[in-house]
Amino acid sequence: MLEILQIPALHDNYIYLVHEPNGWATAVIDPAVAEPVLQALDEKGWKLTHILNTHHHGDHVGGNIELKRKTSCAIVAVARDKERIPGIDVEVHEGDIIGLGHADAQVLDVPGHTSGHIAFWFADENALFCGDTLFGLGCGRLFEGHAEEMWASLEKIRALPPSTRIYCAHEYTQANGRFALEMEPENQALQERVAKVAALRKRNVPTIPSLLEEELATNPFLRPHSLDIRRRLGLTGVADWRVFAEIRHRKDSFAG
Ligand code: ZN
Ligand code: FE
Repeated sequence: MLEILQIPALHDNYIYLVHEPNGWATAVIDPAVAEPVLQALDEKGWKLTHILNTHHHGDHVGGNIELKRKTSCAIVAVARDKERIPGIDVEVHEGDIIGLGHADAQVLDVPGHTSGHIAFWFADENALFCGDTLFGLGCGRLFEGHAEEMWASLEKIRALPPSTRIYCAHEYTQANGRFALEMEPENQALQERVAKVAALRKRNVPTIPSLLEEELATNPFLRPHSLDIRRRLGLTGVADWRVFAEIRHRKDSFAG
C-alpha cells in the first residue's frame, strides 16, 4: 500500500510524495519547488529515492536540482525531452516499469501539452499521476502538440479502470467547471459536481484527486462523443478528435 501525500505549492500546483513503506522508497512527482518537499520528508522521516517528472515545464521540474543535491535521489523522466529535464538520470519510454520499492509504476506516453509528456500509472494502487495532461473537468493546453495527438493521449487515459484516481498537477477544477457548463449545461452529473467543487473550494479543500469515473461523466474534454456537445458546436458526423479540437480551441479563448 502506498502512502500518497499531496503538497500544495506555488499558486495552484500540487506536488505528490509517494511512499512505499516495505521497500522504503519515496518518490516525488513534479517538484515545482524543493523547500516544501524537504520539509514534508523531514516531518515524515522519509528518505527521497526518486523524482518522477511528467514534463519539462518549470512548475514541474523547478525543485529537481536542489532535491537531487540534498538527497542523492534519481531523476526519472521522458527520454524524448532529456535535454530539457534538469539533472535527468533515468530516461524512460512508453511501457517502461519503474520499481518503487515493491510498487510498480508504468510509463504512459501522453504527448500534446508538451511533445514529451508522460504519466505514471500505479495500476495496483489505482493511481495515475498525469501532470498537465488531464485536469479536474479540464485538460492541458496544447503548447507543443496538436489536437489529434492530445486526443490519443486522453483516449489512453479514458481506457484505464474507471476507479483510477487522477492525481493531476494543478487545482483548476472550479474554473474549468465554468467552461464545462457552457459546453454541456444539461449534464446533471456535471451540475452536481460543479456544486460539490464550489463547496470544497470555499473551505480551501483540494478537489484532486478525482476519479476517472467522474471525469468520464463530466469532463467535456473526455466527452466529444456527447450529442449535446456536438449539437452545441455544430459538429455532428465528424471524428471525436475534431470535436475535442474545437472544445480545446474554445476553452483557450473562454473568458468566464
Ligand atoms: Zn505544463
Ligand atoms: Fe503545469
